[in-house]
Amino acid sequence: MPTTFTPPNRILMGPGPSGAHPRVLAAMTKPLLGHLDPDFLRAMDECRGMLREVLQTENEVTLATPGTGTSGMEAAVMNLVEPGDRVVVGICGYFGERIAQMAERAGGEVTRVQSPWGEPADAAVVEAAVRAAGNVKLVAIVHAETSTGAETPVEPFARIAREAGALLLVDCVTSLGGVPVRADAWGADAVYSGTQKCLSAPPGAAPITLSPRAWDAVRRRETPCNTWYLDLQLLEAYWDERRVYHHTAPISMIYALHEALRLVLEEGLEARWARHERNGRALQAGLEALGLTLHAKAGYRLPVLTTVRIPDGVEDAAVRGALLRRFGIEVGGGLGELKGKVWRVGLMGESSTPGNVLYFLNALGKLLREQGFPADLRAGLDAAEARLSSEPD
Ligand SMILES: *Cc1c(COP(=O)(O)O)cnc(C)c1O
Repeated sequence: MPTTFTPPNRILMGPGPSGAHPRVLAAMTKPLLGHLDPDFLRAMDECRGMLREVLQTENEVTLATPGTGTSGMEAAVMNLVEPGDRVVVGICGYFGERIAQMAERAGGEVTRVQSPWGEPADAAVVEAAVRAAGNVKLVAIVHAETSTGAETPVEPFARIAREAGALLLVDCVTSLGGVPVRADAWGADAVYSGTQKCLSAPPGAAPITLSPRAWDAVRRRETPCNTWYLDLQLLEAYWDERRVYHHTAPISMIYALHEALRLVLEEGLEARWARHERNGRALQAGLEALGLTLHAKAGYRLPVLTTVRIPDGVEDAAVRGALLRRFGIEVGGGLGELKGKVWRVGLMGESSTPGNVLYFLNALGKLLREQGFPADLRAGLDAAEARLSSEPD
């Protein structure tokens, strides 16, 4: 028999999962309750309330689907898209393409509007595509593209969707709890996220909220949606006062979400966004001062996920392997067309600390020098420290 599994301590600075707060991990060790126990139902209600605050929404239909961020995506897409519905997806990376594929599986007629990986989704071209398609049901974008490190400003797409009488879906898996997400102020109709990125809980649940318009569209479907497990009408009937059994809730995951949301609200949304902003910009300043090139377009760089180009002659796998083995740091490699071209460095939730910024820059600088790239270690650390000690923006 194997011995008890004992994971090493790592510094999780990849595209997710991020490090979880000890209080969140402790919450998961609490005694189980039944999924209809009144005390458990209270925890669910409290999660709903806190999710509304964190998502900045008053939407009644606000819950957490069982499963990682992808379950939130699948719930949103499968419930909103009916066979023959026209869908326009603004794609600027891997996750936008995933939305498009799901919409096709739901039977949607999907128009993909592609932008270069590293830039935001293109509102002007999306607007033209929505006009050209006519009678569009859903416009979809990814707020924070974790594959490229670029942020897409949401407001222009909300206007485009509203003017076309369409719904707006926004993937906020990587942004929620790290950069401002304002579901109602944006005018977004479906917003979902995940627990394992800036909310800093283990992977396993997906916050989701639907506007009254989106909820109407779900209830007016002519055909039941193509997923039973993620059917939002069934899930809502369990999450609201009807308490109709649907699945056995992932009890410990709800405990974790509850504590993670408490931590977000304790810190305060504004303070949390400011922390992510400062640490992210310090990392980016440090990487540039090391002599590296950031991949995402200036002005659209996410503080929570930085893509940095791998210099010529430097071996991707060797550097990431050494970061993990020698320094205990995990970063991500490139996805899709950026494979082998960039590293993805996350500073999400608990992982977003000044100490991690400086420790990582030091480790990366050393490894780059070993690989023959003349990283200016002193300049990198100085630039990061200067940003970390600068006045708040
Ligand atoms: C991580 C991520 C997902 C998928 O979430 P999982 O938790 O891996 O299922 C979806 N969209 C974006 C933008 C992500 O970063």
